[in-house]
Amino acid sequence: MHFEYHEPTSVREAVELGARFGADGRFLAGGTDLLIQMRRGQLRPRHVVSLHRVPGLDAIDVDGAVTLGALVTHRRLEREPSFRGALQALIEGAEVVGGHQIRNVATVGGNIVNASPAADVAPVLLALDAEVTCLGPGGERSLPLEAFASAPGVTARRPDELLTRARFARLPPHSATAFLKAGRRRAMEISLVCVAARVTLDASRERCLDVRIVLGAVAPTAMRARAAELGLRGQPLTAQALREAGRAAAGECRPISDVRASARYRALLVATLVERALARCGERIRQAA
Ligand SMILES: Cc1cc2nc3c(=O)[nH]c(=O)nc-3n(C[C@H](O)[C@H](O)[C@H](O)COP(=O)(O)OP(=O)(O)OC[C@H]3O[C@@H](n4cnc5c(N)ncnc54)[C@H](O)[C@@H]3O)c2cc1C
Repeated sequence: MHFEYHEPTSVREAVELGARFGADGRFLAGGTDLLIQMRRGQLRPRHVVSLHRVPGLDAIDVDGAVTLGALVTHRRLEREPSFRGALQALIEGAEVVGGHQIRNVATVGGNIVNASPAADVAPVLLALDAEVTCLGPGGERSLPLEAFASAPGVTARRPDELLTRARFARLPPHSATAFLKAGRRRAMEISLVCVAARVTLDASRERCLDVRIVLGAVAPTAMRARAAELGLRGQPLTAQALREAGRAAAGECRPISDVRASARYRALLVATLVERALARCGERIRQAA
């Protein structure tokens, strides 16, 4: 494995190097995906551009909207006090990524750009309607996270672009989120299935005004279960409505069978986890009242 290692000390310098190397280069954040892929020979960049000494990409800003710098680690998300409450799913997604060592260095930006169908934090951001911002030699552009990943490892990022942040609007009143993951073990396990849910109820906390249901590890990219979402709009969150939403989501997903689980088992997990995640959102909204 031969490559040249670069350590820019500003965003501008990082972007210049990205532009110079294009598809021959790769940005290095926590390295927990990149280094493994390089060691396995799946990726052979001739230039590795470390982001470790680049300041300004590791901030969490919570004002009118919530902005996560690309270098925010999963550990930071897990410990961010302002996410307790309506944004609990961000904490729940981050705290099940790998083990402590991984979470200390692995970043939100890496999770998004790596575009694994089984990523845990990206689906939560999708449920929050996040948009991502890329900065390249031609300037900055933002696009919905939903339009970012198109296949495993394939994104709309151009090779010379640095992902700088993810951003989403703060949630309206009577909203909650939840994230659930099923793996074969309880820790250090990538998802067999994961589910991120977001629910906003009306002022009487009876009916569902808005809902997002995002499924991970059951399609080439994390996917929204739109039929399940549609079925819940305007409806009370009854046990039957939640069960039906779970069933609808299981019908929409496109899981594969592999050594870790059969497609049928994954679809059954989707039905159960969707039902539970939605129920958890409902409980959280009522508890916060
Ligand atoms: C033992 C182990 C367990 C794991 N468990 C989980 C798990 O449970 N759940 C889960 O979701 N993931 C898991 N992962 C995968 C990984 O930790 C996460 O995807 C992590 O968020 C990747 O972040 P990183 O900073 O390490 O990315 P890196 O490895 O540094 O980068 C990943 C990719 O993104 C690119 N990149 C990174 N940052 C930027 C940027 N700002 N702009 C442009 N391109 C960029 C890199 O060039 C590379 O292609 C695990 C990994 C290991 C090794």
